[in-house]
Amino acid sequence: MILYDLKCENGHTFEAWFASSEQYDRQNKRKLICCPICDSNKIKKALMAPNLKGTKKSRKSYDEKMVQDKNKKFNKKLKEFKKFIESNTEDVGKNFTEEAKKIYYGEKKSRPIRGETTKEQAEELIEEGIPIAKLPWSSREDA
Ligand SMILES: [Zn+2]
Repeated sequence: MILYDLKCENGHTFEAWFASSEQYDRQNKRKLICCPICDSNKIKKALMAPNLKGTKKSRKSYDEKMVQDKNKKFNKKLKEFKKFIESNTEDVGKNFTEEAKKIYYGEKKSRPIRGETTKEQAEELIEEGIPIAKLPWSSREDA
């Protein structure tokens, strides 16, 4: 016996048992299967639930792979960017706020620097109009 999910021309879905798929085909050709709701005999097999689940699952794993690939590419770019910044700026560490101010007010020769600030120090620099950029990594990672 096979249980089929069936659908009529008006979109009603219902279940029916058949001895075999051949029996279903034969009965449907002879218009012997009727919708229990509207009596229509234009019946089709509805999509079965296990198929839908399978499609969803494989699509999900495909998306996950895409995300992983994107993350890999992003991390590679980030590493390259970090390398570039580190070879093109002077690390002044915790003196960053002082150095940035001295450079901004012309007390020291202008040069690209990097270093650490607290959140308050960064806000102070921004308030004074000193251009700073937060790098998307922590210098503690270098240790
Ligand atoms: Zn119907």
